[in-house]
Amino acid sequence: MKPVFPNSATVTVNGRLVLRKAPPGRVVLKVRYGVLVHPVHGPVLIDTGYGPQVTAAPGRSLTLRLYSTVLRPMLVEDQAPQAVLARMGFTPADVRLVILTHLHADHVARLDEFPQARILTRRAVLAATLGRSRFANLHRGIFPELLPPGLMDRCTDIDSLPRVAAPLGLPDGSDLFGDGSVLAMDLPGHAEGHFGLCFPHLAPPLLYACDVQWRVQALEPGRAPGYPARAVAEDRAAWEVTTAQVAAFARAGGQVVLCHQPEDTPFDLPAVAR
Ligand SMILES: [Zn+2]
Repeated sequence: MKPVFPNSATVTVNGRLVLRKAPPGRVVLKVRYGVLVHPVHGPVLIDTGYGPQVTAAPGRSLTLRLYSTVLRPMLVEDQAPQAVLARMGFTPADVRLVILTHLHADHVARLDEFPQARILTRRAVLAATLGRSRFANLHRGIFPELLPPGLMDRCTDIDSLPRVAAPLGLPDGSDLFGDGSVLAMDLPGHAEGHFGLCFPHLAPPLLYACDVQWRVQALEPGRAPGYPARAVAEDRAAWEVTTAQVAAFARAGGQVVLCHQPEDTPFDLPAVAR
């Protein structure tokens, strides 16, 4: 079961914001989300990427408009979930499960397009987020207006699932489907409760390390970005430990894919032929 990681949008930033000692100039980051087709559960989304809910919806709050104006995400419409699902022969209603690795805007923007799906995430983090003030969430890069009502009722807590061994020196992970095919891996530091996904049965095993870093090169010692990237991390000490852990997995022969890495990966979705 090989996932694909389509690119929902691009965001262009100063390269030094995301990689220490980067050459001067700007870099075009991707904003991936994932789709896997499970033999029992059917199509499953891993986050949702950016959508017009962030960039264009008329009812957006002033703060979300400001966020979109500053970051200027350029949506890649032919890689949006609905388009990708259609290419795979599915409709949005076929998606019964959405895995949320964390609640940042670029991971949850299109949640309202999947009102029937169960949400696999950390229940305690979702509950804490929904119980927090708008300001406290904003401080964490979270826009509760992107979280549809009723999410708690649809939530399956990944922390309630059995923990099983993961490959290549990774700590144990939560077995999402009970078949060992996809493990939720704690990757603390970037955001509250942030986790990635390990696919132990792929050769070599894959770790979708989500937002541990924005660039693969930043996994190397001394290359993780400093301020302001450090300042926005939920837990800087944990972030450093997690970065080293993902780097060690890669050194041991594992494949690592990051949500935002500009480079193509073997799991990217090819552009539609025109
Ligand atoms: Zn994030």
